[in-house]
Amino acid sequence: MSVKSYQSLFLKRGKADSLCRKHPWVFSGAVHHIDGVPQEGDKLRVIDSDGRFVAVGHWQIGSIALRVLSFSDEVIDVGFYIRRLSIALDVRRSIGVVRCDDTIRPENRNDMYRLVHGEGDFLPGLVIDMYAGTAVMQAHSVGMHEDRMLIAEALKNVMGDGLKAIYYKSETTLPYKAALGQENGFIFGRTDNDVATENGLDFHIDWLKGQKTGFFVDQRDNRSLLESYAKGRNVLNMFCYTGGFSVYAMRGGAKLVHSVDSSAKAVDLVRANVGLNFPEDSRHEAFAEDAFKFIEDMEGKYDLVILDPPAFAKHRDALKQALRGYIRLNARVMEKMPGGSVLFTFSCSQAVNKDQFRTAIFTAAVQAGRNVRILHQLHQPADHPINIYHPEGEYLKGLVVYVE
Ligand code: SAH
Repeated sequence: MSVKSYQSLFLKRGKADSLCRKHPWVFSGAVHHIDGVPQEGDKLRVIDSDGRFVAVGHWQIGSIALRVLSFSDEVIDVGFYIRRLSIALDVRRSIGVVRCDDTIRPENRNDMYRLVHGEGDFLPGLVIDMYAGTAVMQAHSVGMHEDRMLIAEALKNVMGDGLKAIYYKSETTLPYKAALGQENGFIFGRTDNDVATENGLDFHIDWLKGQKTGFFVDQRDNRSLLESYAKGRNVLNMFCYTGGFSVYAMRGGAKLVHSVDSSAKAVDLVRANVGLNFPEDSRHEAFAEDAFKFIEDMEGKYDLVILDPPAFAKHRDALKQALRGYIRLNARVMEKMPGGSVLFTFSCSQAVNKDQFRTAIFTAAVQAGRNVRILHQLHQPADHPINIYHPEGEYLKGLVVYVE
C-alpha cells in the first residue's frame, strides 16, 4: 500500500485555511469533488485548489466529510497507529495515571484511564479506555471501524504484556445510517475480571452493557476533590450512575451518602461498588428515583451535593432548552441546601461552553436567592486532552460553589 493508492478529495478555493491551522475536520461544504467513488470509511488524500497535498483522513457521509489522521503525506498502516498510540501512552505515563505495578501503595493504585481521546490524541473517531489491562475500544466513525484490527495490532505492540484483552464496543457509537450491524465483543483475548481500580478504590466495570465504555473515567480528579470535602457531611450524589462520587465520599469520611439515579440498573451498580469497598457500611443508601422528584423532599438534608446529569444538549439546536434545564435543576437544589453547603455541579454537554454554564449557575443562584461563591472551576482530566487546534474537544465543565 502506498499513498498513491488513496483517492483524492479536492477542496474548493479558500477552503484549506482551517486545515492549514490543523483543524481536523473537512466539512462537506468545502468539498469541490472527489476522484472516483469512495466507500464511507476509505482514506482519502485532501488536495487544495492549487493542487497541493493538505492532509489524509477518513472519509465519511454527513456534514463532516473527512476527519484528518495526518497532515503528512503518509500511509495509514499499523506503523502509523503504533506511532500515535506510543505517544498517547507516553502522555498518560507523564500525567501519572498509569500506576499499577507492585511498588505502588494500594491506596494510590490506578489501572483505569483513557488512553486515546479522539481528536485530543490526533485520532479522530477513536476512544480507548484501559481497565485493569482490558482495553475497551470505541469507534465513532466508519473509518476507525474499518481500521479496528490494525489498531488492535498496534495496541498489542505498544502495550506489550500490559494488555490482556481488547473489547470492541461500537454497537451504539457507529453512524446509525452506515448499518454495519456491528456487535460488541472481544477482538483480542478475553477476561472474566470486571474490577478495575481508580486511586485505590475498586469498581465493577460493565463494559458489556454499561454507558460509554462502562465507567465515567473523566470524573477521576473531580471525585478526588470531592473526597477532600466529604468529612462529616451529608452527601447527595444525584445522577450517580456507577457511584464513583459516592465511593470517594465514603472514603472521605462522610456521615451519610445517598445515591440517586432514575435507572434501577445504575442503582444496583452503585450498591455493588460501595459494597466492594465498604462492605456492610450503613452510611450508604441508594434510590432509584427521578431527580426532580427526589429534590422536592430534600429540604435541609444534604450539605454536600453532586449534580452530574447526562448531557442536556446533545447538539446546538437544543442549547436554549438545555440551559433552562441546568438553571432549573441547580436553582431547585440551591434553594433546599442548608447554609454552609457545598455543591459540585457539572455539564458534559459539548454544545454548552464554560461561560454559558457559569451564567446558568449564576441565574440559578439568583433564582434561589442565595449568596454563592465559586471555590473551584473544574474540567476534564489530563487523560482527556484537548487538541489545541480543536477547541470543540473541551466538553466537561464543573463548578464547586459554597452556598451561604
Ligand atoms: N456521575 C456519574 C455519571 C452520570 S451519567 C459518574 O460519575 O459516573 C448520568 C446518569 O443520570 C445516568 O446514569 C442516568 O441513568 C441518570 N439520569 C438520567 N436522567 C435522570 C433523571 N431524570 N433522574 C435521575 N437520574 C437520571
